[in-house]
Amino acid sequence: MSELPMDARRASHTFPPESIAQIQRMAEEGHYEIRGWGAKRRLPTFDDLVFLTASVSRYPLEGYRERCETRTVLGSRRAGVPIELDIPVTIAGMSFGALSAAAKTALGRAATAVGTSTTTGDGGMTDEERDASHLLVYQCLPSRYGFNPVDLKRADAIEIVIGQGAKPGGGGMLLGQKVSERVAGMRTLPPGIDQRSASRHPDWVGPDDLRIKIEELREATSWEKPIYVKLGATRVTNDVKLAVAAGADVVVVDGMQGGTGATQDVFIEHAGIPTLPAVRLAAEALRELGVEDEVQLVVSGGIRTGADVAKALALGADAVSLGVAPLIALGCNSRTYTAGGVEHDVTADYHALGTEPGYCHHMHTGRCPVGIATQDPALEARLDVDEGTRRVVNYLRSVTMELTTLARACGKSDVHNLEPEDLAALTMEAAAMAGVPLAGTDWIPGR
Ligand code: SF4
Repeated sequence: MSELPMDARRASHTFPPESIAQIQRMAEEGHYEIRGWGAKRRLPTFDDLVFLTASVSRYPLEGYRERCETRTVLGSRRAGVPIELDIPVTIAGMSFGALSAAAKTALGRAATAVGTSTTTGDGGMTDEERDASHLLVYQCLPSRYGFNPVDLKRADAIEIVIGQGAKPGGGGMLLGQKVSERVAGMRTLPPGIDQRSASRHPDWVGPDDLRIKIEELREATSWEKPIYVKLGATRVTNDVKLAVAAGADVVVVDGMQGGTGATQDVFIEHAGIPTLPAVRLAAEALRELGVEDEVQLVVSGGIRTGADVAKALALGADAVSLGVAPLIALGCNSRTYTAGGVEHDVTADYHALGTEPGYCHHMHTGRCPVGIATQDPALEARLDVDEGTRRVVNYLRSVTMELTTLARACGKSDVHNLEPEDLAALTMEAAAMAGVPLAGTDWIPGR
């Protein structure tokens, strides 16, 4: 039998070079990969949807003369003092520990400047972020690190975190190099030791216990503060319905593109569902319960632009939450940082981490070249808080302008009036996941 011609450099689909390298690394080191950032594999995104903007059948609004409302209220169901935002774009929970105090301060100041909220994280509330943030959402996580009655009273809303999109069903990690004396003190843990957060709350095993926890938090905050429940997107329909039944004012659904400071790569790439189907499922669940005007839906996970925000709102979200994108606005993955008016190139620092600007996912190392995801004082000093604030404000304002541009072009005087009927899908997958027709047809796969 003659031999088939074989290209000497033909890669295997089953074992491409990266799989070979991964297996060899696991064989050498005997452990799985831990990293930061979010999913890197190709996933269905909001890019697979387009807007059917106005033409003859409806007319657009003028961008420079006609107002497009962006005001957003969260927590109107039962909270005495709902959260009132100027824009439907919030800053997601990211811990002090994962991020430097300077980064948390810049995010808080930027959120305040544009009239939106920011969120604490696994590890508690710092004075800096409380002072910087006009509206601060305080997370209650399974670990309960830094969760205390004093800060509960200082918060503007409470977010019970059941799961995160990057690691639904798993807990966070903070490797020892980021557990500084201050971080350790807030978490009542020894400094310098790897810390793994719990994957489930210690005092409940099911939805009834969630209801009890919500009632406790309402009592502790005099029924004033909205209670959010945050879910990693997996069995979205059932989870949203159970969160609503337990008494949530706001449901936050975090798709699998959501970022993290550190967790197992196998979680990031192989658990949960993308944000695109998660929004549609969550919105449908609220509609099926008849509470879509009562319980607000916030979605997160890989949202980058005003177009992403507009599409999430059209599919039924009341607001979105951003994590990685504001970090990029702050300077994450930049080749340089500027201090004292002088620009410094940090390419060599990325190389020391084994990466390049534009590819970095190394929050877990604590060696962030631009001072964002670190507790090292010398590295943290690279982040100029005023400049970082300016950049995040610019980014959030630009996102809002993109959002209102699209809403006006759809003839909407309020971004919350965007609807699925304004969208078409470019792929069958997106049509099925988002529940909108494939472009040029009236066909929604599965319906
Ligand atoms: S530049 Fe810093 S914040 Fe950005 S991915 Fe790298 S370590 Fe994380």
